Amino acid sequence: MLPLPEFTVHTPASVDEAVALLAKLGPGAMLLAGGTDLLPNMKQGLHAPAHVVSLQRLGALRGVRREGDALVIGAMTTLDAVAGSAEAKTHAAALAEAAAVVGGPQHRRMGTLGGNLCLDTRCRYYNQTAFWRGALGYCLKKDGDTCHVVEGGRKCVAAASNDTAAAAIALEATVVLTGPAGIRRLPAADFFVADGARNTARREGELLTALEVPVRAGRVSVYEKLRRRGAIDFPLLSVAVRLDREDGSARALDVVISALAAKPRRLAAAQKLGAADLATLPIDTLADAALRECNPLPNIEGDVVWRKQMVRVLVKRALGRATSLA
Ligand SMILES: Cc1cc2nc3c(=O)[nH]c(=O)nc-3n(C[C@H](O)[C@H](O)[C@H](O)COP(=O)(O)OP(=O)(O)OC[C@H]3O[C@@H](n4cnc5c(N)ncnc54)[C@H](O)[C@@H]3O)c2cc1C
Ligand code: SF4
Repeated sequence: MLPLPEFTVHTPASVDEAVALLAKLGPGAMLLAGGTDLLPNMKQGLHAPAHVVSLQRLGALRGVRREGDALVIGAMTTLDAVAGSAEAKTHAAALAEAAAVVGGPQHRRMGTLGGNLCLDTRCRYYNQTAFWRGALGYCLKKDGDTCHVVEGGRKCVAAASNDTAAAAIALEATVVLTGPAGIRRLPAADFFVADGARNTARREGELLTALEVPVRAGRVSVYEKLRRRGAIDFPLLSVAVRLDREDGSARALDVVISALAAKPRRLAAAQKLGAADLATLPIDTLADAALRECNPLPNIEGDVVWRKQMVRVLVKRALGRATSLA
């Protein structure tokens, strides 16, 4: 069993106290929510913070509540609670479905929405012990200067492997961050950035406090995930779809595909559809377009040719389910 390195735990009782602590401790400190990803990563030597700021006492960041025309989900809400929330299932179904398929039951009971949205990217050459990585000379993302996925690559392309990311983008959600400069709101689509070494726009000293999901009449959304086993495994590919209907016909469609590279990808072909196309949703055409647009990398496990073919299958499945629900 791999031991945890030594570190000091801080347990602030309020968001203000947490922000002040982060400012005082500096960039060497890391936030801990459920710890289901951070602690295994620390055991593998991927992070070695001298100080860990636990958010466990921040009860104000737990829960799903309706505020006007938005669903506000606190960052410390467990994935289990998101998956089981009647409000989330009704107004943010893709998010509830995504939360329901993260890891196994224990991960979902400890793991939080904030921790999932801020999850480190994953790569078959990175999520390994220090000994394993050292044998390969490490890599660009940590301690080395080579990328083993893209020969000669100068940018890390580790994969966004958090199930809720694609759903948050498809649902046009807003990420709420609190830091030394106050509160900052970012569309989920801008929160994730295409850099596997650090794939969120979260600034030093900020913590994610909530996700705001707009509530819209006539909206349906679904989430599909590809993984080897029906539980525990991270996504090898994932697809979130949002379909907005008005007066009986589709008005807008968003298809977000993830676990390809560091940033979930919005299907361009879906964004370009006009009202006429949406009237009779061209599911096969969109699935074919997704197959052309998406090129999985050998960054996570799973044969790339299989993962690419499964883009078409998953997009078709998700669109079929969304249209039947609508
Ligand atoms: C065996 C196994 C299987 C797993 N399978 C999946 C899976 O299928 N899908 C999946 O998505 N994940 C999976 N995970 C990863 C993890 O369990 C989940 O992503 C979980 O949601 C992480 O949440 P957490 O609260 O435990 O985060 P933590 O581990 O506490 O933190 C994760 C990261 O987010 C940062 N962070 C946490 N909260 C905040 C905040 N409020 N503001 C800013 N930064 C924050 C931490 O500093 C850390 O970098 C798996 C993990 C294991 C060990
Ligand atoms: S994509 Fe390249 S740089 Fe990034 S973690 Fe994998 S091997 Fe390292």
